[in-house]
Amino acid sequence: MEQKRSKVMVIPCDSYDEEKVYNCIKAGLGQLGGFDAIVKAEEKILVKPNLLTASVPDKAIATHPSVLRAVLRLLNERGCVDVKIGDSPGHGSCEGALKALGLKEDDIFGAKFTPMSDNVHVDFADGITCREFDFCKEIVESDAIINVCKMKTHALERITGAVKNVYGFVCGYRKAAGHVKFPNDTVFARMLADIHRCTHPRLHIMDGIVAMEGNGPGSGTPTPMNVILISEDPVALDTVYCYLIDLDPEAVPTNSQGCRMGVGTDKEEEIDIILCNVDQAKTITRKELFEKLGNGSFDVGREKPKKTFLMKYSGFMTKLARRPVIDEDECVKCGVCVDHCPVPGKAVDFKNGKQRPPVYDYKKCIRCYCCQEMCPRHAISAKKGFLSFKKKKKASIS
Ligand code: SF4
Ligand code: SF4
Repeated sequence: MEQKRSKVMVIPCDSYDEEKVYNCIKAGLGQLGGFDAIVKAEEKILVKPNLLTASVPDKAIATHPSVLRAVLRLLNERGCVDVKIGDSPGHGSCEGALKALGLKEDDIFGAKFTPMSDNVHVDFADGITCREFDFCKEIVESDAIINVCKMKTHALERITGAVKNVYGFVCGYRKAAGHVKFPNDTVFARMLADIHRCTHPRLHIMDGIVAMEGNGPGSGTPTPMNVILISEDPVALDTVYCYLIDLDPEAVPTNSQGCRMGVGTDKEEEIDIILCNVDQAKTITRKELFEKLGNGSFDVGREKPKKTFLMKYSGFMTKLARRPVIDEDECVKCGVCVDHCPVPGKAVDFKNGKQRPPVYDYKKCIRCYCCQEMCPRHAISAKKGFLSFKKKKKASIS
């Protein structure tokens, strides 16, 4: 029997020059037959970027506007007339985040901003870990979703890419409740996989031209990776992202759980890596990919909790492995972290008064890292706890 394979297009791109980005995405999409093969002109399309919060493009927090404009232009050329762009940011409004990127509603190829602020309750009987969601109404109303994610690190899931980006489908403050209900990296990844199983985004495009390493997804360091990735398989796409940064794909819960739950594959033998340029495309190996475009010193969590029978209690292990810490010199006592902590009674609070930085109650803290994601001063980082073990250095690229 022929083995099922997933294609991931890797398109080298070393600048955000709009014409260059457009030509690169067009070349990558061409390997799938272009948007002609992915959407119908009469369909309602939602383009879903990563808009964590209002931020300028240079910070590498959000999907770059050149990438978004290229996708919207290609949809316009496809003849799509009902195209919306929106996300439910962790903080602030969608419109504010799009405007902070420099996008103007009258200059995005006929597409419209959409607020992603109204909630629709969705029952999902086929859910494996999660059987109901509170989605933004645009998710339910769209015929096709194009997931335009950003290559970044993530304190809870190690990386955020195509699989994680769908958490923005959940409407507004309801995202916080999801962290309480799914309080560790594994069950949270399984809930994300169920979102994919429920909504089936049609295509995934990753902005990895300038990625974010270190203290992501909101406080890390922009670093050029000079690639755009495109795939219909979000797990395969994130797996190829892992190859590029020499991270074991199976160490990423969104990959391993996404694969187990049938969202896509993280198996090397089931993925075709297609290197695309404007004028040619060829299938390459994982090793060739890394030699050409990889960055083995990309700053991402590589430590592994030791695998023992306690791994069954992964929430417990997650708690012992890492924890959020506030840099008191950077903290301006704004209280955003306290506001975003989803735990009843708050696991971070102004226990010593508002003239002093908030303090953590690590017994209550579920390590969701919402506080770290949202701190506007980048004053919070995820520090290793005493149960972290350094991965032995070994070449995973052979
Ligand atoms: S969000 Fe950041 S700056 Fe604001 S109080 Fe919390 S740690 Fe301090
Ligand atoms: S203190 Fe931070 S990491 Fe802990 S539960 Fe609250 S938001 Fe999540």
